[in-house]
Amino acid sequence: MNKGWRDENHIRIIETEYLTHDVKRFRVTKPEGYQFAPGEATDMVINQPGWLGNRHAFTFTGLNEWPFLEFSIKIYKDHRGFTQKLDELKEGDELIIHDSFGAFHYHGEGTFIAGGAGVTPFIAIFRQLAKDGRTGNNRLIFSNRTSRDIILKEEFEAMLGANFINTLTREKSDPYHFGRIDQDFLKREISDFSQYFYICGQRKMMEELRNLLMEMGADEKKVIIEMDFSQQVLE
Ligand SMILES: Cc1cc2nc3c(=O)[nH]c(=O)nc-3n(C[C@H](O)[C@H](O)[C@H](O)COP(=O)(O)OP(=O)(O)OC[C@H]3O[C@@H](n4cnc5c(N)ncnc54)[C@H](O)[C@@H]3O)c2cc1C
Repeated sequence: MNKGWRDENHIRIIETEYLTHDVKRFRVTKPEGYQFAPGEATDMVINQPGWLGNRHAFTFTGLNEWPFLEFSIKIYKDHRGFTQKLDELKEGDELIIHDSFGAFHYHGEGTFIAGGAGVTPFIAIFRQLAKDGRTGNNRLIFSNRTSRDIILKEEFEAMLGANFINTLTREKSDPYHFGRIDQDFLKREISDFSQYFYICGQRKMMEELRNLLMEMGADEKKVIIEMDFSQQVLE
């Protein structure tokens, strides 16, 4: 299918900024005609010698209508990998992105459950819903180790109000819940199991939560997870 753009698109970094201590936002030029839906991702390559064979997937966190592309990327600083190299790049440096591909798509109102950087597909989905005035009764349950790991806290609060629920696994502090998302947590927080559930995080967390939700009455077809996302493990 001719989508009107090439599979290999050279783009340049416009600006970068740390959103948390280890998640960095990259705003980059947008190839003419390039399109994606909220929740979709692309394979990225660093256009520098020694890096060209190395494709890593990242989710678009901006909206298709924005004049630039945005990615929010957890940087593994002590690991001599792709994101450590990305961290060194400066304004004007070149990346290559490929076609957009579907990771998560919005099917209808429900509860979104994210662990850490697994929230990235939900950023664009909620930004689009907020822009369209359709956040409705959608809820985001966001699990992080500590409060300093919460990505875009103020923006999610503004978009979702009381429907933005945070739980921390390694810090006890108000107003956050403490502990992992387990059966007791789900019983307390969810009364309707016929809704959609969207889950993104580490593979183990996604599998456990999907099984729990189904035991508690959720419809398998309405529990949306994207296993590919965690092939490159997210923590
Ligand atoms: C469809 C899709 C969409 C994605 N979207 C996003 C996104 O929007 N944002 C995002 O941040 N990620 C996203 N990811 C994940 C992202 O692709 C990977 O996190 C990234 O490629 C890791 O690259 P790396 O080479 O820096 O890390 P790798 O070398 O692959 O290392 C990452 C893993 O190593 C572990 N690690 C880190 N440091 C150390 C250390 N010192 N010692 C031992 N182990 C360590 C980490 O816990 C992690 O599990 C996505 C993945 C997919 C498949």
